[in-house]
Amino acid sequence: MNAALDIMAAGQPASLDFSFLRGGGTVAILGLGKSGLATASALAASGVDVAAWDDSPSGRAAAEAEGVTLVDLMEADFRGMRFLVLSPGIPHHFPEPHPVAAKAVAEGCKIVGDIELLYLAQPEARYLGITGTNGKSTTTALIGHILGEAGMAIAVGGNLGTPVMTFPPLGSDGAYVIEMSSYQLDLIDSLVFDAAVLLNITPDHLDRHGGMDGYIAAKERIFAGQGGDKAAIIGIDSAPCRDVAARLSARGHARLIPISVCEDAPGGVAVDNGLLIDDLDGDAEPVLDLKTIERLPGAHNWQNAAAAWAVARVCAVDKPTIEAAMRSFPGLAHRQQLVRTIGNIRFVDDSKATNADAAEKALGCYDRIYWIAGGRAKEGGLTSLEPFLPRIARAFLIGEAAPDMAVWLEDKAPAIVVGTMERAVAAAYAMARADGVGGVILLSPACASFDQYPNFEVRGRHFVSLVAALEPNEGGIGA
Ligand code: ADP
Repeated sequence: MNAALDIMAAGQPASLDFSFLRGGGTVAILGLGKSGLATASALAASGVDVAAWDDSPSGRAAAEAEGVTLVDLMEADFRGMRFLVLSPGIPHHFPEPHPVAAKAVAEGCKIVGDIELLYLAQPEARYLGITGTNGKSTTTALIGHILGEAGMAIAVGGNLGTPVMTFPPLGSDGAYVIEMSSYQLDLIDSLVFDAAVLLNITPDHLDRHGGMDGYIAAKERIFAGQGGDKAAIIGIDSAPCRDVAARLSARGHARLIPISVCEDAPGGVAVDNGLLIDDLDGDAEPVLDLKTIERLPGAHNWQNAAAAWAVARVCAVDKPTIEAAMRSFPGLAHRQQLVRTIGNIRFVDDSKATNADAAEKALGCYDRIYWIAGGRAKEGGLTSLEPFLPRIARAFLIGEAAPDMAVWLEDKAPAIVVGTMERAVAAAYAMARADGVGGVILLSPACASFDQYPNFEVRGRHFVSLVAALEPNEGGIGA
């Protein structure tokens, strides 16, 4: 999430109140990263007894410095505890449960995540949840932007963004717009989303969900408990999502809103060659040409826009306001962000494309590509990228996956293993200048960043800083 978009609730200085948990047993917290620390602080500030732990000594030291009460949870008795709040990065099912999670379950303690706690503290607010394999952050930010422009009291965050424990209380007038990873969906219990979006499903994180069925089941949880007028907004362009829609329909879901960029979406929102068609009222009205919105390039972004349009309509925002907000959407860093143009060479940062499915979207948007790719290989393979390889002028491969990617690209596209981002940027720029016909130097790695960087943001910022330092007249290989 973009920091600037994290919290958009105007003028609510108060923090969440958890005093209703006081006296009801200690709350255990495992995992003291950003969201775990925020949970510990929020609960302690409300006078709730907290027992927190992190397996890493540095995590514990950081927590202690903030005054968090540390307890080795392997030594704790969970029988009197209220909850175990688990950081979403810690497994409680697959590949195998963390020993503390297993102990909590064995001793009858419920496991939840911070988003469930938010719901318990603010049950009157509206909850808008967004999930999918790709497009979550963009769609979440876009929804936040539209609702903010419409003057609603909102807070935006969740997965990778501002921890929800730092959200202000919004009461019944406000809406929490929450990006939900499949891990976080595994950790909700009573929370029911007023509007829930499932964009798409392709294989990812399968080890954490015991395979594709488990991954789909986690994603489907975004619709758990929905009834009445709660809206289920589903991208019907991927087969697993169509199956989810069919299951919801079979169980009599009353407000199923399909979205599609491939076909008609009766009762929902379709995009036909960029033209957004609103059929929520059954009149299939063409409302907006998304091709005219520069910050939402490509059919994948049309899917995100269709979902955001549907959510905004469910929230009763009028169509002109939605359209104006889509036009003023600033976009998100590291998602096909145009970072510089030198002559006829454009530099695009798509560091967030950590799997083939995401990289495919960017590769499909440009004709002549100097492609910087590689990192730590993800499940799912790269085969789906093959139709786009004729667009590759040259691939510059970095990180652990580089040698395997070079073998894969043999006879398909010219490629060199350069190893590092520094060499990739220098070599790509030199090559593009030497070719002289222009093109896009695209960082869209199709791999995770963890072999060389702490996360995709740092990887993207490194690319951007190297690009910023390029002299318009330089061009030597091997910097
Ligand atoms: P997420 O939060 O789900 O990882 P982002 O919005 O951060 O998704 O986008 C990550 C990358 O995924 C983008 O750079 C783009 O290449 C690709 N992408 C964005 N939206 C979609 C979509 N609806 N379908 C497929 N790929 C997408």
